[in-house]
Parts: sequence; C-alpha cells; structure tokens
Amino acid sequence: MADFDLFVIGAGSGGVRASRVAAAYGARVAIAEEYKVGGTCVIRGCVPKKLLVYGAHFAEDLDDAAMFGWNVPQKTFDWTVLRDNVLAEVSRLEGAYTETLKSHDVTIFHERATVTGPNSIRLASGKEVTADKILIATGARPVMPHIDGIEHAISSNEVFHLDKLPKRIVIAGGGYIANEFAGIFHQFGTHVTLVNRTDVILRHYDQQIVDRLIQISLRKGIDFKFHATIDRVRREDDGRLHIAMTGCDNLEADQLLFAIGRKPNTEGLGLEAIGVELGEHGKLKVDEDNRTSVPSIFAVGDVTDRVQLTPVAIREGQAFADTFFGKKQCRVDYGSIPSAVFSHPPLAGVGLTEGHARNTIGPVKIFTSDFRPMKNVLAGRNERSLYKLVVDAESEVVVGIHMIGPDAPAILQAAAIAVKAKLKKSEIDATLALHPTMAEELVLMR
Ligand code: NDP
Repeated sequence: MADFDLFVIGAGSGGVRASRVAAAYGARVAIAEEYKVGGTCVIRGCVPKKLLVYGAHFAEDLDDAAMFGWNVPQKTFDWTVLRDNVLAEVSRLEGAYTETLKSHDVTIFHERATVTGPNSIRLASGKEVTADKILIATGARPVMPHIDGIEHAISSNEVFHLDKLPKRIVIAGGGYIANEFAGIFHQFGTHVTLVNRTDVILRHYDQQIVDRLIQISLRKGIDFKFHATIDRVRREDDGRLHIAMTGCDNLEADQLLFAIGRKPNTEGLGLEAIGVELGEHGKLKVDEDNRTSVPSIFAVGDVTDRVQLTPVAIREGQAFADTFFGKKQCRVDYGSIPSAVFSHPPLAGVGLTEGHARNTIGPVKIFTSDFRPMKNVLAGRNERSLYKLVVDAESEVVVGIHMIGPDAPAILQAAAIAVKAKLKKSEIDATLALHPTMAEELVLMR
C-alpha cells in the first residue's frame, strides 16, 4: 500500500482545496510546499494587492472628504506602514491556511518535492514517499524578458516588499497586474508610465469599458506609451534606471515592474522524464477530469494555464477531490466566469463582450448607462461610470454585463448570476431598483 492516497505538490488555492476536501472524505493526504502555504493569491497576489488597493483609495477619499464637511489636515502617506501591515496580514493568513490543513490531518512537508515515477515523490531532504495519486498544483510565476539589465527590474513578487516608494515607476504590460499597479502607485503619488507593446490593453475586456479606463487614467496623469518595447535597462551611479526604448523616447525611473503574463511552474519537477505531456509555454495538459497523460498524475490551477484565476483553481481542486475521493463525478463549468481588474476605478465583466458577441452570435442589442456616481458629483470628481448590457437580439437573453466604476467588481458578482442563469433582459427590467445605489442602473437601462 502507498504511503498516501494523495500527494499534492503546491499549497496554493487549488492544492489546499483539493487536500482539505480529499482528507475530509477520509483520504490519507500529504502536501509539499517549498515557499509559504497559501500560494500566489494569498502570499503575493490577490490578497495583498487588494489591501494595497484599499490603501491607495484613501488618497481620493481624503481629497473628497472636504466636500462632505470633513477637515482633513494635510494628508501624508507612509508606504512602510502599509507594507508592513499588509505583510503581517499575509502571515496571519498563511497561519490560518496551515491550521486548516493540520486540522484535516493533512501531512505538510515544507520543502520542494519532485516526481520520480507515476506513484513516487522525492522530497528535497532526500525522503522518498509513494502515493496512489499525485496532484500537481504548482501555479505559475511572472514572465521576465531576456534583456540586458533585467536584474534591475522587479516582478509582482517583489512589488509588495519595496524598501521605499519610487518617485517614478515604469510598468511594462497592459494586463491585469500592470493596470492594477498603475492605479495603486499613482494614488500613492508615484509618477506612473505604462508601456505596452500594442495599443490594446486588457484585451479580453469590453473595448468601450477599457477605453473609459484609459480616458480616466490619462486625465489622472498616468502616462501610456503604446507600441513601445523595452530594449535594455541600466542603473546609473545615483540609483536611477535608464530604460532604452523602441517606439518612444528612452525613459528614466526609480523602479521598473514587468507584468507581461505568468508562466506555468513545471520545470524541474521530473514530469517530462516520466512521460507527462506538456503543452505550449510548459503548461500541464489535462483532460476534463484534470488528469495528465500519466493516469495517476493530475493537475489543477495556473499550472494547467486554462483560466489563471483563483476561484477557478479552487473549483478545479474541489472537482478533483469530489470525483476521485468523494465518488461524486464533478467537472468545472468554464462558461460565464466573472472577472475584474482592481484598477482605479475598477472594472469588471462577465459573459460576451460586445465585439465577441457580434462575431459569434450575430445581431445584438446594446444597452448602456453612462453616469456620474452621486458621491463623485458632490465631491466634484469628474469621473463617470459606464455599465453595459449585451443582449442576444433574437432570444433577448443577456449574454454579457460589463462595467467600470466604484465597486464594479462587487456589483458584477451579483449581476453575473443573471448571465449564468441566462435571464432575459425583460427579467432584469422587471426587477425593481434599489434606490439610491449605483447598482440600480443595471435594472434601469431601456
Ligand atoms: P495578463 O495576461 O493579464 O497581461 C499580459 C500583458 O502583457 C498583456 O498586455 C500582453 O499583451 C503583454 N505581453 C505579453 N507578453 C509580452 C511580451 N513578451 N512583451 C511585452 N508585453 C507582453 O498578465 P499579468 O501578468 O497582468 O497577469 C497574469 C495573470 O494573473 C492574468 O492573466 C490573470 O489571470 C491573473 N491575475 C488576475 C487578477 C485579477 O483577477 N484581478 C489580478 C492579477 C493577475 P497582449 O495583450 O498583446 O498579449
């Protein structure tokens, strides 16, 4: 008999969920983690990022407070206070995740594990263990380009640990991380330049919503360099970074952050040697049951590069555990996944964008609400929100909802139910408004 029923490599969102649920079904489970329990989302992703977003938002809130009668003495910001409080919260969560595993009797190995056979694993300490099933949940890591001076640049791993706030930051990329940190640093008072290889940012979001973000960001003072690439980086004697560019003038900055995508962590795990098939960019190829080409080895989360989002990894981990340890066949439904960018202001979307809908389903009806939130009006903040419904013209079913504005991600989470449930526009219209809210705009579009 094998030492364990299940051995999980990687204690991130997907790995922890699979371990905990399989153990709850009675499986003997072990998990190996070479860094910190919690993975990207908890340790250096969604959670600390969202806390920085909250911290950053005070810059505007404190400005706006005056029109609401508050006398705020001159505001000052101390990066080290926020950084240390965020890192302390991350440590607390790491402890909570570890406790959850322990309370489910999951054996934790705080070291790197490699696969040596379809049912065998070697730990960094040299210990060999066997398992009936192996689950790879090693996540992904930031892509860094091979350019001269790349050692002077940082990724989203390091951005949470900066000694001091840069006066000027250049951010390469036009995706989630680039736009979220552009907003965060700008609010902290850093001059932000976002460099993108094309003129399309946030490629998979609705164009009209993204255009609104660019318009607001430009007005705030964020600089965009489109059709531009970074050739090399040099650190000057005084600490400044000199960034040689193609497509625009060379840039100077105190920090350079690369946010150009994330690559699955499959190297050095021993997978290819035992015949596990990898796809492009090193992703682990799996079937609908998360099984790799070796029948006893499975994978969930970012390492499979299906949809790199935490709730998806969690669903995959849960489905894997239900199917193979709970005897409840379960597959993840990848349709209509809501997602959000925690930019300033945030944007969010679910279902088909207008462009995608026109290309795939044909005639569509578009309903928009372009409004200035009540709070912005009194504050004198000239920043408009935009909500958009994409409706299949023939069936009247709402196939997409897209929005930018305060609290858009939280509002969209509820609205996503309508798209998932394939509700018709008339059913949304029949819902009474909850007044006065921003969300009521969703049911008032005619
Ligand atoms: P994204 O995939 O979001 O964006 C990558 C950006 O970099 C795109 O603009 C892309 O351009 C550009 N790019 C890609 N390759 C290169 C290159 N070689 N040189 C220059 N530019 C390049 O990646 P992120 O790093 O921002 O985030 C990684 C993943 O993490 C996301 O896909 C997302 O799944 C997840 N994430 C989710 C968050 C959330 O849910 N709020 C927050 C943060 C991360 P192009 O469009 O032309 O390919």
